[in-house]
Amino acid sequence: MERKIVHCDLDTFFVSVERLQNSSLVDKPVLIGGSSDRGVVASCSYEARKYGVHSAMPMRLALRLCPEAIVVRGDHDLYSKYSNIVTAIIDEQTPIVEKASIDEHYLDITGMDRFFGCWKWTQELRQRIMKETGLPISFGLSVNKTVSKIATGTAKPSGERLVDEGTEKGFLAPLSIRKIPMVGEKSYTLLRNMGISKIKNLQEMEVFTMQRVMGENGVGIWKKANGLDESPVLPYREQKSMSKETTFQNDTIDVDTLRRTLIGMVDTLAFDLRKDQKLTSCVTVKIRYSNFDTHTQQVQIGFTNSDKKLTEIVLSIFKKLYSRRMLIRLIGIKFSGLVYGAYQTDLFNDSAEEVNLMQAMDWIRKRYGSDYVMKGICAPIPEQKGGNHAHKSS
Ligand SMILES: [Mg+2]
Repeated sequence: MERKIVHCDLDTFFVSVERLQNSSLVDKPVLIGGSSDRGVVASCSYEARKYGVHSAMPMRLALRLCPEAIVVRGDHDLYSKYSNIVTAIIDEQTPIVEKASIDEHYLDITGMDRFFGCWKWTQELRQRIMKETGLPISFGLSVNKTVSKIATGTAKPSGERLVDEGTEKGFLAPLSIRKIPMVGEKSYTLLRNMGISKIKNLQEMEVFTMQRVMGENGVGIWKKANGLDESPVLPYREQKSMSKETTFQNDTIDVDTLRRTLIGMVDTLAFDLRKDQKLTSCVTVKIRYSNFDTHTQQVQIGFTNSDKKLTEIVLSIFKKLYSRRMLIRLIGIKFSGLVYGAYQTDLFNDSAEEVNLMQAMDWIRKRYGSDYVMKGICAPIPEQKGGNHAHKSS
């Protein structure tokens, strides 16, 4: 049986949430991001995009392109709150839901057409979300995730698009190869140099040619260009948590050692989040005293994968948790409530330099392993036995 897969994406989500708080932002060019001129654009309105502004652009450049833009610092907790409201509405009436990012969901509604038409159902859900939240959202419906995601893209802003079963190739053919989710800057340049600009050109190629030029990645792109995608909608609830524990060789009461260990663990875990393109919304810190008494504390937070933000949260939980001045045997950190999400969703508090540092460190970790770099503060002190080895500090 052919599947029925819906993709939906809130339009300029952060901007739309800000507009609900402050209606004077409606119809104006709005930039969300760090307000200092070293900041980065996390999101921008369609009015600002007309001037060539896009997300991840330095704020200074964005303001040069669009000087009349209104800059809003951004409030990740507020965005998470609205994101969860949208998820709850979808969850209530959908059999299988994957939360793909803070403003994006995939829904598997296969079989629903036995009761009502899938397209009518999709349109009604869209109207319900807009009515109950006041947020504009776009939808695509087709037989798989890739075609539905591309359909959503063509429906934006605030639109809906149905791609009937069997019409996938025709729908994709006239579109730019940029519309294929896997095609990044590098693949785009390579394909353009081969004279390929439309998806139609990819459809006309032999799959082995793509394989020869681009390897397995080329096969993936070719399949998507032909509207083929078997990947399942993965329910949100099945996504696991990430955790890390350190047992000290000698139980310790030294707050500096404890803090340094926590910071090192956050760095490693946050890197794992970013590597898997995930964000966490719940942080748990655990301590076990030398008498094996174990205490944990959990805090719900706005979705993030930023070292800086997670370090602040972990250290503040630890400060509250470590009330008894007793020897500690073990400390642990858990990140749960994970969702898929792009890195850009937590740029408001980070300057361009911090983002560049984090990206440079991630690049080295991916190449040489996660112990290869760490922040100066985490470098082991001479008397500490075992543990991490710092080859390089930054
Ligand atoms: Mg969006």
